[in-house]
Amino acid sequence: MQNPLLERAIEICKQKKIRFTPIRQRVFLLMAEQKGAVSAYDLLELLKKHDANAKPPTIYRALDFLLENHFIHRIESLNAYLMCSHFGCEHPMQLLICDSCHKIIGLTDPVIDDAFSEQAKQSGFQITNKVLEAHGICYNCLYN
Ligand SMILES: [Zn+2]
Ligand SMILES: [Zn+2]
Repeated sequence: MQNPLLERAIEICKQKKIRFTPIRQRVFLLMAEQKGAVSAYDLLELLKKHDANAKPPTIYRALDFLLENHFIHRIESLNAYLMCSHFGCEHPMQLLICDSCHKIIGLTDPVIDDAFSEQAKQSGFQITNKVLEAHGICYNCLYN
């Protein structure tokens, strides 16, 4: 029985006519099995259990592919990656990162996103990479 997320990803790639190679699928599966954010280094260690010859470029190329196709997100402030719950489509993203339990809440408010872009535009600034991340303590960690 295949992973249902992987099946959907394979279907999306088929529709878009993009090559979803076995190594990309393997890294996708490893990402899908993670509860939260995972670093490239940790992924490489996991990948080595399947392919002892896996090298950092292997994992970075696969991660780039998954990023480009909006299957995962990069968390800049943690230097880590997160499975996208919206999957396969681009969307605005604001992250709330709990520094206590490492839970990550993904917000997708287009109003925040547009306001930020608009302010940049008014400053004559051309955004090439937009990162909205906040660190703090989540509700559970605060009150339990
Ligand atoms: Zn997403
Ligand atoms: Zn927490």
